[in-house]
Amino acid sequence: MLAHTTAHPLHAPRPRRSRPVLPVRRSAARAPFLLLALLLAALALRPAPAAARDPSVLDGLALAQRGASANLCALTFDDGPGQTTEALLNILRDKGVRGTFFVVGARVHLYPETLKRLVAEGNEVGNHTFSHISMRQRAPVEQLSEIARTNEELAKLGIVPRYLRPPYGRYDNATIDAAAAQSMTIALWSVDSRDWRKHDLAAILPRKSYGVLGVRGVFLFHDNHRETVEALPSLIDRLTEAGCTFVTMSEYVETSGPLCLH
Ligand SMILES: [Zn+2]
Repeated sequence: MLAHTTAHPLHAPRPRRSRPVLPVRRSAARAPFLLLALLLAALALRPAPAAARDPSVLDGLALAQRGASANLCALTFDDGPGQTTEALLNILRDKGVRGTFFVVGARVHLYPETLKRLVAEGNEVGNHTFSHISMRQRAPVEQLSEIARTNEELAKLGIVPRYLRPPYGRYDNATIDAAAAQSMTIALWSVDSRDWRKHDLAAILPRKSYGVLGVRGVFLFHDNHRETVEALPSLIDRLTEAGCTFVTMSEYVETSGPLCLH
């Protein structure tokens, strides 16, 4: 009986080897791949990744590290103008808060009166490209066109935007050059409300962002979600209680200085 069990191929004892040198070599050989996998995972988790860190770009880190002495909060709304813009403007007006709207150029001619009202009430307009494309690795001439056409549409309404927010936060060196050619600065965000996931917006309240704790920074929302409109009044109340001083994107950049984190 014993002979039968040991004869089974699955239970057969493996031939003994002299020291298991091989497994050690194997793990050593795997180490670079593990490191590479970890590095790729870390890169994938980075918010608003950039092709290159350029001091002229106001990316999440640069924005988070500004204005530590004041709790400046810039509420920004991407992807409009649209059907929710007027409702957002009503909330901002009622709360005495001004925001910044990064608009899609192709939509500008659809809502001229809304945009005029937006500016008249002290809000700011930014450029979010003409057709909401991912700018990274696009031909330089196409990138410049996306920015310039949006500025041309806005110019018809007397609006001259100062900041470009490339969709998805994706840009490369050609985007930086194209923005500079249009006398603009790339400005991303430091706090993502993730309203597009339809999460509870209250979850964005006090939390750590880029290593800086506190309720401050440039908040990213979207101007095409009913959930954002519904949550915004109470969210503004809570941010006010937390000490936020609400500013536009330009005011945020002008009022704050680079923060020295030592
Ligand atoms: Zn967008």
